[in-house]
Amino acid sequence: MNQALPNDTKSPATVTGLSLFQKLCALIIIMIMLIMLGRGYISYLQTMGKYDDQVQNRLQRLEQTFTTLAQRSSHELFRSADRYTQPNGDATHNVTALIPSLMSEVESVAIISKQGQILSSAQIEGADYQPGSDEIQSAVATIATTQQPMASLICNPDCIQSVFIPLISDNGDELIININRSAVLLFEDFYDITGTELVVFSPQSTNAEPDVKFSSHGAEGTRLLNAIAQALNLELTTAQHYFGKTAEGYLAAHFFELPGSTLHLAIISDESAVASLAARTISEVLAAALVTSLLLSLVVYLVLRPPLKKLAIITNALPLLSGGNFSDARQALKKIKRHKKYIDEIDLLHHTTEDVNNALDLLSSNVLRQRNELQEKVHALTEAKQFNEMLFDNSPMVIVTHREDGSIHNLNAMGRTLSGLNNKPAFNANINHWVRDPENDITLSGSLQNLVDKPQKKLQNELPFLTGDGQIRDFLWTHSIISIDNSRLFLSLGVDITETRRAEESLRWLGEHDRVTGLLNRSTFIEEADRHIHSMEPNQYIDLVMVDIDNFSEFNDRFGFDCGDNLLRKFANYISEELGDARLLARTGSGEFCILMIQRNHGQPQPHNLDALSRFQIDTGGGVETISATIIVDHYNVDIDGIDDLLSNATSLMQRMKSKGKGHVYHADDQDSKESRQEKYLLKEQLLEALNSNRLVLFYQPIVDMHSHNVSHCECLVRMLDDEGSFIAPAKFLGIATECGLMPRIDYIVLEKAMRQLAAWQQAGITIQLSINITAPTLEQPDFAERLGDIISATGATPESLIFELVETDALENIENARKLLEQIKVRGAQIALDDFGIGFTSFEYLRELPVDYIKIDQAFIRFINERENDQTLVRSIIEMSHSLGKKVIAEGVEKKAAVEILRDMQVDYIQGYYLSRPVPISALDLNIHL
Ligand code: C2E
Ligand code: MG
Ligand code: MG
Repeated sequence: MNQALPNDTKSPATVTGLSLFQKLCALIIIMIMLIMLGRGYISYLQTMGKYDDQVQNRLQRLEQTFTTLAQRSSHELFRSADRYTQPNGDATHNVTALIPSLMSEVESVAIISKQGQILSSAQIEGADYQPGSDEIQSAVATIATTQQPMASLICNPDCIQSVFIPLISDNGDELIININRSAVLLFEDFYDITGTELVVFSPQSTNAEPDVKFSSHGAEGTRLLNAIAQALNLELTTAQHYFGKTAEGYLAAHFFELPGSTLHLAIISDESAVASLAARTISEVLAAALVTSLLLSLVVYLVLRPPLKKLAIITNALPLLSGGNFSDARQALKKIKRHKKYIDEIDLLHHTTEDVNNALDLLSSNVLRQRNELQEKVHALTEAKQFNEMLFDNSPMVIVTHREDGSIHNLNAMGRTLSGLNNKPAFNANINHWVRDPENDITLSGSLQNLVDKPQKKLQNELPFLTGDGQIRDFLWTHSIISIDNSRLFLSLGVDITETRRAEESLRWLGEHDRVTGLLNRSTFIEEADRHIHSMEPNQYIDLVMVDIDNFSEFNDRFGFDCGDNLLRKFANYISEELGDARLLARTGSGEFCILMIQRNHGQPQPHNLDALSRFQIDTGGGVETISATIIVDHYNVDIDGIDDLLSNATSLMQRMKSKGKGHVYHADDQDSKESRQEKYLLKEQLLEALNSNRLVLFYQPIVDMHSHNVSHCECLVRMLDDEGSFIAPAKFLGIATECGLMPRIDYIVLEKAMRQLAAWQQAGITIQLSINITAPTLEQPDFAERLGDIISATGATPESLIFELVETDALENIENARKLLEQIKVRGAQIALDDFGIGFTSFEYLRELPVDYIKIDQAFIRFINERENDQTLVRSIIEMSHSLGKKVIAEGVEKKAAVEILRDMQVDYIQGYYLSRPVPISALDLNIHL
């Protein structure tokens, strides 16, 4: 899979401007052209420079030519002077005479005195070729000094060649002959000989055009000179040479002063032909450069195009790599055909690019995979973090991390709420301020010394939380040491167990007390009485007083349960008041109270007191009722086994005495006790007989599942068949069976019978489960598990459909042992129920510690639940607590439809009771009950 690599700069996918190849070609052409042009220009400059020198030399030679011509012309004029002087030496008079002959050679002649006066002169008619007085004076002065003839060229305005020759006349006068001839002849000769233009001019000092005196070709010469003057910015005064381009074309000129004159002379040569030749040469050079460049470019093109094309493909493919389009790049790179033999650098680059592409592709896939994995991990971590944060702040427990001195590192929402910190930061606070036991002066940090000194994994303890609003709440803490940022911290998790404690307390209290009167209940009375008897000192005497309200059930029927309860409460108070403190008082039956009188000196309890107990008046709302109570007083002695014996004596005596006469006080004598023991003996014999002759019968009572509304299982309840064919209830014989250690035997018989019934059902496809009562002593037998296994294999029933109802849990000797035994049962697939929950129940811990699946709430709390609010409160809390521990709840003793509705409302899981069915023999069992 292709995936874009991280890339900050986006490269274009293709070359959009000039390609590298085109740029290279253009560069080569331009470079070649520049080189050729430079070369051409340099040769042009060299040629023109050389030509300039040549022209200059030529023009300098022309100056000499002109000078020579001028001297030659002057000499001619000197020689002609002889003709005026030789015949008679009187030149003065001959001048006029000679004029006609002069006409062909000179323009004018003059005889000048040595003072510069023209003595005589002659000239050709119409001509005006005479020097001015300035020139004459200058010449006279020069000759006076040199005594030599002199020649000069004067343009005033016409140019003349003027010579001055000194001579002495016949009469001895010093004279000067001046002969003048037009300079045109000289100039024309020069032009004829040299073919160059000659211009005589007077340079102007101001920036003005030169004042042309003579031009060998009239206006043509003037035009050329002016063009040069313009090119030289009219600076002709000092100029000696010119060669260059002017408005009149390429011109060369040489300037010099005329000897003996202020005039300047310019020899001008038209060099346009040379310039055009040079221009043509340059064009040819350029053309050659262009052609060469094109040819070179063609060669370069042919040579470089294939590799550059490859390079272009690679170049275009490279941005695809950075864009992560590896397959596109691979396709693009495939377009390059590689020669097997000839491999150049670009082929290597191509090969490398392909390798890089593959490597990046692989890398990208790996990165993507890793990124996905990372994302998943991040996601999981984020979820975990959110979960942790949610847990931290929504947890119904206090979570605090703190240092050894108790200073808080972090405290969750519940902790902040309880401490009163609420939204304030908890950093500077100390947890010991809230979590401590003020009574024993223990702080949270103080309680963690074990964890600090001998680091264990975890430490559990209970310490109260002193809340910000002044409450003291019970907390169960679990502490551990954690490390955050390399520093050691304590993590303390605290669960508020205040309510649980209260519920436990109330359950314990309920377990120990009678809910109506608040007195001890029967089982607690037995425990307490036993304790007193066993710790009784030699000089102590113990009497049991049993008080039973006569016709109490009738009273209930007449005035209702509330009134009955009221009677019990008031009567209990009455007994308390009458008998004082030195006794143990309990309600041991529905209308029955027992008092254990402990006295130091032997003697009967005060009779008048006891008599007073046999009568009591109560306001029923409709009038005052007098009720009576029958009282049995039995004295404890060493012949009696214990409180059970004492109680059973008193009970049987009570029944007998009531039949004789209610509302009296009776003192048991030794004879009565013997009678009672005789009864017990007979019952035991009867039970043994029944066991031996298989006269134990199982009755079945259906239990309905409140979710499916159908019978889900049945409880097996044992009955003893007596000689007369009637069924004796277990309450009658189980007590003696326990006393005689026969309970395990009964339990195994019941278990086997139940399993056989279960096997029959399973064979018939009936899925109903069976629950069997099992007493703690049986369970604790060392070979119980083994015998259970034997029964399972003997009967062939599946133990998964079996529930063991654990009765008489009080008898369990060791909870840890019981847990192990129950685990053994569970391993076989059977389930466990805790029977008679809520009554005679010593420790609520059993519920937490034992691996039970069901709680059976005792019928005492259920039977009148529709009438008693207290029962409802208690049952509701038992159900909620059991559910919170994951246990299912069975309510037994359901007798009324109203009770069903209340229990349904409380979300009880199963119900059992006379409302559905009484315990019946298998033949009468109806499994189709539907609620
Ligand atoms: P239990 O296990 O709690 O059994 C429930 C008792 O409540 C049964 O009495 C049953 O008949 C009675 N009962 C059920 N529904 C109602 C109702 O709606 N109202 C009233 N008033 N009573 C109801 P039973 O059969 O007399 O058994 C009494 C106790 O004897 C049992 O209490 C159990 O502890 C013990 N027991 C019975 N059979 C066996 C047995 O096979 N083995 C052992 N170890 N104990 C047994
Ligand atoms: Mg039971
Ligand atoms: Mg029960």
